[in-house]
Amino acid sequence: MSLLKDELKFKDVVFEEKKDLKKFSTMRLNATGDMITVQTLTALKQVLKLLNKNKMEYRVLGWGANLLLPLTTAIPYIQLDFDFDKSQLETPREEYLLPASVSLATLTSHANKFGLKGWEVFTGIPASLGGAVFMNAGTNLGEIGSVVKEVLLITKEGEEKLIKIDQHSFSYRRNHFVEAGDVIAEVRLIHFGIDEMISKKIRDYLEMRTKTQPLKEWTCGCVFKNQTIERGVTCRAGLFIDIIGLKGFSYKNLMISPKHANFMENRGDSTYEDVITMIDVLQRELKLQTGVTFNTEVEF
Ligand SMILES: Cc1cc2nc3c(=O)[nH]c(=O)nc-3n(C[C@H](O)[C@H](O)[C@H](O)COP(=O)(O)OP(=O)(O)OC[C@H]3O[C@@H](n4cnc5c(N)ncnc54)[C@H](O)[C@@H]3O)c2cc1C
Repeated sequence: MSLLKDELKFKDVVFEEKKDLKKFSTMRLNATGDMITVQTLTALKQVLKLLNKNKMEYRVLGWGANLLLPLTTAIPYIQLDFDFDKSQLETPREEYLLPASVSLATLTSHANKFGLKGWEVFTGIPASLGGAVFMNAGTNLGEIGSVVKEVLLITKEGEEKLIKIDQHSFSYRRNHFVEAGDVIAEVRLIHFGIDEMISKKIRDYLEMRTKTQPLKEWTCGCVFKNQTIERGVTCRAGLFIDIIGLKGFSYKNLMISPKHANFMENRGDSTYEDVITMIDVLQRELKLQTGVTFNTEVEF
């Protein structure tokens, strides 16, 4: 990795070798890796061009709320830390051009203050805007894709690519426009007007989530996607895990959350391997006892 150390000397780029990454994922798995923190669009283009010239792979890290980080990896992580015009959030406007690194919590608090219709869909999701768009993150109020108008990608060659969002751009927890190596740099968000009831909806939803999900524990959110089987019937993974009696089940320092069975809590020094083992056990038990194959929502 010394090539990166020698060559990543651009303005607005910080390179840290073998960084302790425990705090870089919400599940707090033990992990170390090389981290490239990029603070501007120009710097991002330079970094991607350099990595591409040297045929080096990389992985983009948002808030690490949907990622299981391995103990070690030879592939460097890129994290964005862009500044932006915060005056955009002082009053409501028709459109917002925001960096991928802004947190959804910042946007929810703006929506709560001014009652932005449509922005309630991502209430309470811990994420960067880029990670949320990549995942088409959502709740049972809707998905973030519904309020995205445009996405600015930087390709692995360091070039800008502007994506105009249409009805084919997103599906359940997926986008269909980010190609391997692309980095989401900026997102243009819209809303559907001002409605004072939205603030109440956001507060009620946050209260409900706090009661039903382990939000203070170290987790990666829902481990499994809900599965749709014949005639559009949806099987909720958490409910099925509860039914087969595995709520509260522990393996080493991992526990199936007693609060919500589709969450897995890291109660100590868990590793990537521990989580994989636990997921494997759950998938096999679910298949054996219910006949349903549940795919993971969390990324490896
Ligand atoms: C307590 C808890 C509750 C949760 N509740 C929900 C929920 O209700 N609904 C829901 O949908 N999810 C939920 N999640 C999961 C998670 O918050 C979402 O998947 C979120 O979108 C992840 O965003 P992130 O910034 O953390 O992305 P990361 O986890 O860091 O990354 C996720 C993926 O996006 C890619 N990525 C991230 N940023 C970029 C970028 N700028 N450009 C290109 N690719 C990028 C990464 O490479 C990775 O493949 C929850 C998680 C936790 C811990």
